[in-house]
Amino acid sequence: MDIKVTFPDQNERVYSAGITASEVIGGWQKNALNSAVAAKVNGNIVDLTFPLAENTAIEPVDVSSKEGLSILRHSISHVMAHAVQDVFKGAKVTIGPSIEDGFYYDFEYSETFTLDDFEKIEKRMKEIVASDYPFVREEMPREKAVEIFRQKGEDYKVELINDLPADVSIVSIYRDGDYIDLCRGPHIPSTGKIKAFKLLSVAGAYWRGDERNKMLQRIYGTGFADRKQLEDYLNLLEEAKKRDHRRLGRELDLFQVNDEAGAGLIIFHPKGMLLRYLIEDWERKEHLKRGYDMVMGPQILKVDLWKKSGHFDHYRDNMYFTEVDEQTYGIKPMNCLSHMLIYKSKIRSYRDLPLRYFELGTVHRHEKTGVLHGLMRVRQFTQDDAHILCAPEQLNSEIRAIADFVNYAMGIFGFEYEVELSTRPEHSIGSDADWELATRALENALKDNGISYEVNEGDGAFYGPKIDFKLKDALKRKWQCATIQCDFTLPERFDLNYIGADGEKHRPVMLHRVILGAIERFMGVLIEHYAGAFPVWLSPTQCVLLTVTDKHIPYAQTIHERLIEAGIRSEKYFENEKLGYKIRQAQMQKMPYMLVIGDKEMEAGTVSPRARDGQNLGAMPVEQFIAFVQEMCEKKQ
Ligand SMILES: [Zn+2]
Ligand SMILES: [Zn+2]
Repeated sequence: MDIKVTFPDQNERVYSAGITASEVIGGWQKNALNSAVAAKVNGNIVDLTFPLAENTAIEPVDVSSKEGLSILRHSISHVMAHAVQDVFKGAKVTIGPSIEDGFYYDFEYSETFTLDDFEKIEKRMKEIVASDYPFVREEMPREKAVEIFRQKGEDYKVELINDLPADVSIVSIYRDGDYIDLCRGPHIPSTGKIKAFKLLSVAGAYWRGDERNKMLQRIYGTGFADRKQLEDYLNLLEEAKKRDHRRLGRELDLFQVNDEAGAGLIIFHPKGMLLRYLIEDWERKEHLKRGYDMVMGPQILKVDLWKKSGHFDHYRDNMYFTEVDEQTYGIKPMNCLSHMLIYKSKIRSYRDLPLRYFELGTVHRHEKTGVLHGLMRVRQFTQDDAHILCAPEQLNSEIRAIADFVNYAMGIFGFEYEVELSTRPEHSIGSDADWELATRALENALKDNGISYEVNEGDGAFYGPKIDFKLKDALKRKWQCATIQCDFTLPERFDLNYIGADGEKHRPVMLHRVILGAIERFMGVLIEHYAGAFPVWLSPTQCVLLTVTDKHIPYAQTIHERLIEAGIRSEKYFENEKLGYKIRQAQMQKMPYMLVIGDKEMEAGTVSPRARDGQNLGAMPVEQFIAFVQEMCEKKQ
């Protein structure tokens, strides 16, 4: 039988059925096979050895694509499992998927794997790669597969097959050399295609993520198309480790997370709180400039209000509750409800709109212990939250103004960003018509303003679609910051109205939005982005005075007082230590300016600032230094 194959360039050719994907692709473009790891056949990704049985659109999946890289990494996880079983007799295999930056495989083994074992495993992996074993797919009745894995003592694989739905009668296994794994595939054609990999870490993981199950050992690794990409990634990991905000938070004395207080709860130290104050102070001013009103609601609100809003039905698992005088209260996970009560406190006219309520609102959300991470993932945090209530025809210009605000804010901190539009999730409230309207409003605002974006299907909030802004830090890592959510539902549930120009009652639309997001997480991102060397306007300490000997203290003290009086954040290193020691301290604390006070300065009545990058600003009167720092703050440098 003949089949017709269509290529990405719309070229068509006829072959006999049964020809493999790789033969067809190789005949089309010989070079394509060099970097192809799989093929897309009528939209499904399959092995290159896949036999074509019907008319088909075909396209090579290149290792440089997201899908291709993921197939390469998953294939490396097979090779790792193969190596682990060769080196550690009795190790049992479970699952080994590819993940965001690499792959892992979970094993059951009597001994604990150590970093020293990685060398042995990697050595064996290299041998398997050098042998260039093809990945051979074989399909068989599930009973036969159960028998194969039972004989090998692979209880986890047997359990996986037994748990498949009853209507699955055929399963696939893959072999490379003498190693057999249960897998749906696809994989790269052979182990020899693997050019660059590295094992990274080992951690405990419960079988199927359930803590009632046995604890397994998860080995993480990564792989890339070539050595260069792997080297770059490993350097990035090294740099990220140096910038880890938990480590810098300790070294710069910014904050702590204390087990005695509880997981996911941040305790800000003086310098951390000062940094936070500087960010928040800047934000308040920016909001006032843009026509926002500052408001504030209580931490706890009666449970009935959370029922009315839909939070109780849709968000309860993330909320905390408390009893006061036999009345249940919900601790707020979001700031919306008080803002709606403010709106409802008066009759509103179309002339009052838009109303923009801004609150640095502290919220509590129950996050699982396992996901808590320094400042990035916490249980209590403060959002720079606002709710805009406007007429439907004002939506577009309001969204535009928010997008401009985000753009301005990201510029201040030196972040690039990307935009995503998230649509209706599985669990949601509100009518189809409202979702349609809200999604279209967000989409139109992005299009009208020429903002490019990607669509994130099903990732919206339960009450409405949203625009997410993902900032990119100095290491090109992406972090969620601003969001704009469009909501027709809450104004409906709370019966919010305004009197229109026609004298009739109308329903306003609500926008929920944040600019920086959670202040805690934003601070974590900032610490890593700047590697702790904050710009002058954000530095908890802007300059430090270092005395050469004790006789310089009185003069240094007058300089310090003058700086503090002028609003410059000055610190004193007046201890009786060697100057070299004090300079090293100031460098470790990443102080923007060091002012060494010795005979020369004392006699001339000057200061000689030295910048963090080693540049000397030369001797100058203290007033000149004050003006210089003030100007940098003004320019947000
Ligand atoms: Zn596999
Ligand atoms: Zn809200």
